[in-house]
Amino acid sequence: MAVKRVGVIGFPVEHSLSPVMHNAAFAALGMTDWHYDAMSIPPDILRLGLREPKNHGYIGINVTVPHKEAIMQYVRPDEKARAIGAVNTVDFRNNIGTNTDADGLINDLLANDVLIKGERILVLGAGGAARAAVYGLLREGANVAIVNRTKSRADKLAAQLRASAGLTGAQVMTLDQAADWGMSLIVNCTSVGLHPHIKQSPWIHGLPFPEGVTVYDMVYRPANTALMQQCVAHGGRAIGGLGMLARQGAVAFELWTGVEPPIDVMIGVLQAELEQAPKD
Ligand code: NAP
Repeated sequence: MAVKRVGVIGFPVEHSLSPVMHNAAFAALGMTDWHYDAMSIPPDILRLGLREPKNHGYIGINVTVPHKEAIMQYVRPDEKARAIGAVNTVDFRNNIGTNTDADGLINDLLANDVLIKGERILVLGAGGAARAAVYGLLREGANVAIVNRTKSRADKLAAQLRASAGLTGAQVMTLDQAADWGMSLIVNCTSVGLHPHIKQSPWIHGLPFPEGVTVYDMVYRPANTALMQQCVAHGGRAIGGLGMLARQGAVAFELWTGVEPPIDVMIGVLQAELEQAPKD
């Protein structure tokens, strides 16, 4: 039986949770002819590093840091990837590169019964993850405010989404202005609070949270971030980013295999892996 291979390229890539997540899904579905590998590819050999798996019969790959933008020149980016400005999934059968982060976030928000359409939603950050979030939220009909430490990056993000996807509903604010604006959802797309800096939060200490707000923190290491704790202490609801990680992987899984993956298995195996990781 010929093995059907998929995998992830990155540099470094050893920390990636994708192999364990996808291989658990293959095992749960009895797809014993499928296998997912991690491949460490330095940036200076990205072109070769992309060609090799393709020549060796890989069906597709995920792409992680630092290759998500650079890889766009070697594949055919679809509309989502062009709008987000990054590719995280490639299908070698048609050489199309797509981005599943926006779908991962939106699908996880919907799975948690979080309202999006017509809501005021604050996005913290203006890096790659924020761009996927703003794209996905605007496409779902939300009113989006962006707050970022470096304001010029937030301005650029809003301008790029206007130019590349015709999405006009994002405005750039300070955190104080956003708190006055009021929102039902805050999506943290900064790396603030990520292990080992677990006491840090992107929310100013003492600034009130809007009543009934939900925080969605893309950071999933730790599972319960300082921002999530702050929000809950003020009577809000908090959701960590593990579900997004699983669901962006699930979209890629289905693209390559044509099979809907067992999302509970994927989330379960990620939780188990992260519980083994250092907690301080
Ligand atoms: P990135 O492109 O490097 O962007 C980092 C963002 O964090 C920027 O907006 C940066 O602001 C901000 N930031 C960093 N340090 C800060 C500080 N001390 N104070 C205030 N702001 C700070 O990274 P990314 O790829 O967008 O990823 C961001 C986070 O999302 C990471 O933690 C990543 O693991 C997580 N993520 C999770 C998922 C998931 O599936 N759950 C998916 C993608 C990403 P400046 O512009 O001012 O530098």
